[in-house]
Amino acid sequence: MLHVSPDVVRSPFVIAQQQFDAAADVLNLDPAMREFLRWPLREFHFRIPVKMDDGSVRIFQAFRVQYNDARGPTKGGIRFHPEETIDTVRALAAWMTWKTAVMDLPLGGGKGGVVCNPKELSEGELERLSRGYMRQVARLVGPELDVPAPDVYTNPQIMAWMMDEYNVIVGRHEPGVITGKPPALGGSKGRHDATARGGIYAVREAAKVLGIDLRGQPAAIQGYGNAGSYAHKLAVELLGMKVVAVSDSRGGIYNPDGLDYEAVLAHKRETGSVVGFSGAQPLGSNDVLEVPVTVLFPAALENVITSENAPRIQARIVAELANGPTTPEADEILHARDIFVIPDFLCNAGGVTVSYFEQVQDAMNYFWTEEEVYQRLDEKMTRAFHDVHEAAQEWKVHNRLAAYIVAVSRVAEAVRLRGWV
Ligand code: GLU
Repeated sequence: MLHVSPDVVRSPFVIAQQQFDAAADVLNLDPAMREFLRWPLREFHFRIPVKMDDGSVRIFQAFRVQYNDARGPTKGGIRFHPEETIDTVRALAAWMTWKTAVMDLPLGGGKGGVVCNPKELSEGELERLSRGYMRQVARLVGPELDVPAPDVYTNPQIMAWMMDEYNVIVGRHEPGVITGKPPALGGSKGRHDATARGGIYAVREAAKVLGIDLRGQPAAIQGYGNAGSYAHKLAVELLGMKVVAVSDSRGGIYNPDGLDYEAVLAHKRETGSVVGFSGAQPLGSNDVLEVPVTVLFPAALENVITSENAPRIQARIVAELANGPTTPEADEILHARDIFVIPDFLCNAGGVTVSYFEQVQDAMNYFWTEEEVYQRLDEKMTRAFHDVHEAAQEWKVHNRLAAYIVAVSRVAEAVRLRGWV
C-alpha cells in the first residue's frame, strides 16, 4: 500500500520548483546553479488601459516572465485567462525553459499572461487589448530577445495584431517577433495542430516501447481547445484509435463506440461546448479522466490529476498535452501503478517546435511545405522521446524526472559554458 501525503500545495510555481529540485538532487547540482535555475531571470508586471466599446476605460493586469535565456532567446506563449496569476506565469515560463531544452531547440523559456476573460470582450476590445500588450512589451521582445506565441485563449488573429503593432513601433517588417501567426503573415504551415500532432507522435513511440497496438483502442481527452480538439482528430487519423470521451470547461460526453470528430466539433462551434452532443451520455468535466482507456490526454489546465483522483485513473498511457496537469503526489501514484506518463513539457512540445520552425522560416523568408514541417517535427519528437526514455532507464526514475534530468543538464551546461555560475 502506497502512502502519499495529500497535495496540500497547489501553487503551480511551487510544484515547478519541487519538480526541478528532484532533478537537481539527482544531478547533484551545486548550490549556486540550483539557486539560479529555481527562479526566473526577469519578470515584468504591467497594466494595460483599454478603451471599451461603451466608452469607458478598463485596466488589465498583465505579465511577461523571461525565465532563462542561456540556450537562446526566451520563448513561450501569452495566456489570456480570468484566473491568471504571476505564480502560474512563472511556472509556465519555467516549463518552457525545460521544454525547449528537452527538444534541443536553441531557445530559452518565457511566458506571458493577461488577467481577462476574452469570452466577455468584443472583437474590437480584444484587438485593443492585444495591441496594448505589445505596446507594453515592445522594448523587451524581438526575434533575438524574447518571442511570444499563442497559449490558452489566444490565437493566430491575436498574434497577427501583436506582430502588426510591433512592426509599427519598430518601423519595419519583423515577423519573427512572434509565432503562431496566420500563414498569410509569415506563420508556418502545420502550426495550427502542432501541439496535438507532436503529442500523437510521442504516444506512437510510447506504444512501441510498451509493445501496445493502439488500433481500435479507446482514448479520452479532457479539454477541447486547440490541443484537445486536434488530438481527437489525429488520434483517429494517425493512430487509428477510438475517442470515447471528451470534455471542456462546461462538462463531458461519453460514447463507448467512439465519438465522431467532425460532428463533435460542429456541435462545439454551434453551441460553444461539447455538452449536449447527441448520441453520447453526459459526464462531469473531470470524470472524463477516469474513463477506462488506453490513452488519456489531459489537454486543459494545471492540477487536474491529484492524489485524490490518481488512484482511479484507468489508462495505460497518460499523454499530457496540458501544461502542469499532474501534481507531484499524483505522479508518484501513477508511477507506482505502472501508468506510463508522457510528461507535459515533452508531450506538448510540438507547438513550440513548430514555432521554432516558424522563426527559422521567417528569418530565411522562405517557407516549407506542410509535409516538410511534419517530417521535421516527427524527427524532433521521436529523438526527444527516446532521449527521455533512455534517461528513465539509465537513472531508474519515472518519465517526468527523466525529462527534467535531460532538460536541466542541458540548461546547466549552457549556463556553465557562458561562465555565469
Ligand atoms: N504556448 C505553447 C506552449 O505552452 C507554445 C509556445 C510557443 O510556441 O512558443 O508550449
